[in-house]
Amino acid sequence: MRLDKYACETTDLTRAVAKKAVKRGDFTVDGIEIRDPAFKVPQGAEVQYCGRTVAPVGLRYIMMHKPVDTICTTSDTEIYQSVISLMDIEKPERLHIAGRLDADTTGLILITDDGQWSHKITTPKNECFKVYQAELADPVSVYQQADLIEQFKQGLMLNGEDKPTKPAVLEFIEEDFAQLSICEGRYHQVKRMFAAVGNQVVGLHRMQIGDIKMDDDLEPCEWRYLSDAEVASVM
Ligand code: URA
Repeated sequence: MRLDKYACETTDLTRAVAKKAVKRGDFTVDGIEIRDPAFKVPQGAEVQYCGRTVAPVGLRYIMMHKPVDTICTTSDTEIYQSVISLMDIEKPERLHIAGRLDADTTGLILITDDGQWSHKITTPKNECFKVYQAELADPVSVYQQADLIEQFKQGLMLNGEDKPTKPAVLEFIEEDFAQLSICEGRYHQVKRMFAAVGNQVVGLHRMQIGDIKMDDDLEPCEWRYLSDAEVASVM
């Protein structure tokens, strides 16, 4: 990679400013001052900027416990803070969220700068399962539960759509607290599925995406890098 490009990748400098910095002699490669922006940085070389070692960030795979009243965008809005701006991390502008949650939904979000990896999670073709826990406005008696479970399995017609939802797995933990696994990502899907059967979701939390489970040690706002096994589980 050219030194001026390497400088952009590893610092906050823009390409034009990086070029000037290189020409000024701010960069060394393996201890030698290089003033040519087109200089090809050898693989594994140690590059320093004003005496500080700089290295490419590489691809990152992160899970976060999304708190309530935040949005899955890269920048804040007037009303909500973006989940990415909660993170103290280099090059946040490169990150995106693989499968968004509503502002009032909490739980597991996956954040990455690897677009091919996130595509495997979000493409409808892969039918990646997401598991949610929903608190319901109206309790569903044990007598009604079996019917609802069957309706969710058969597929529901959502308001304004012309195709039923794919088979979903509904389980009741309490009469007003259910777990739902869906393999699609339609707009407000969980809330609209319960609305289609005359109920209302008053609290929603995502527990799992594919084989990646929300880490119970993470408090709201906290995040960690995924393990290699978690990254590899997305195929
Ligand atoms: N379904 C919803 O209704 N909201 C979410 O945030 C995620 C799935």
